[in-house]
Amino acid sequence: MQVIHTNVASGNKINDWSKVIPEPYLEKLKSRLKRPGKLGDKLNNYQTALLKLTPAEQNRILKAFNEQNNIALLLACQCDCEAITDLPLAIREPVQILFKYAFEIITDIEIRHKQYHIIYESIPSHVCPFCGYEKFDALGIGSRYEALDHYLLKDLYPFAAANLLNLVPMGYKCNSLYKHTKNILYRTDGTRRRSFDPYNKHEIVKISLDNSEPFAGNSGTLGEPLPRWEINFNSYSEEISTWDEVFCIRERYVRYLDAEFISWVTAFGKKCQRKNIPNSEQELVNVIEDYASDFELDGFGEQAFLKVAVFRMLYIHCKNGNQRLISFLMNKVNPRSIA
Ligand SMILES: [Zn+2]
Repeated sequence: MQVIHTNVASGNKINDWSKVIPEPYLEKLKSRLKRPGKLGDKLNNYQTALLKLTPAEQNRILKAFNEQNNIALLLACQCDCEAITDLPLAIREPVQILFKYAFEIITDIEIRHKQYHIIYESIPSHVCPFCGYEKFDALGIGSRYEALDHYLLKDLYPFAAANLLNLVPMGYKCNSLYKHTKNILYRTDGTRRRSFDPYNKHEIVKISLDNSEPFAGNSGTLGEPLPRWEINFNSYSEEISTWDEVFCIRERYVRYLDAEFISWVTAFGKKCQRKNIPNSEQELVNVIEDYASDFELDGFGEQAFLKVAVFRMLYIHCKNGNQRLISFLMNKVNPRSIA
């Protein structure tokens, strides 16, 4: 891109693209430069459109190209960029077509494939890093890859559409149902916001349900009162707010907890029945505490991070003498005791 712009700025036109493709990539791209309708033609179209613009417009386009690829700084709100819709009309379509094709090429020459494998292997629990509970399909013959999300939207920031730092494996729900076409850089009111950079180390967000209230929430499928969930994060930052807003985290966790709560406490009861049934309130409190601690070892596997938070909340309420909750759980660990 830089070479095209430098040439165009000095009144030159590139006719042989193989002369400007960097050596390490030439072999893989060579055939695409000559075939009609492929890379060569798409670069020609970009160059032709660029030549018709003023030097100021050309500079503005190159600036947008560089800034859209400043992904870490954009996510940290340390720089801004123009979207494609801010640029001269004549260049928009050639850019969209060229970079859509570039994205297809990184699939064809298996760069995406390699990237996906590296990331999959680096997540021990193989869950979606955005929600923590959508399980990634196991890798193997015939397995399906999870979506590779364009973290900065490709329709607005096409210059970054083939940048690996902008391509993030994400579970289907996070990608298609929640993030979808939301702009990670801007709130709906048009103000800028900071976001987590998936490729830069950042804090692991922990959740606490300690302030939830047993029996004060929605009704379960059998009409039983569920807890009123209050989800707190271990710290407050703009990145956490953006993540919550874009991926609807709190809202989804509440629905998930409502759906799973009874089965989780039933499983807890069954485990107690098999091992040792607590005979006193104090024993019950101790058993719940141990049960929560065991889940901590599982990290993000099997929704363990949510189970830890649920059983820690139950532990706190039982320890504080919530008699209704104690009876409810005693009934789960030893149904005969109530009968
Ligand atoms: Zn997810």
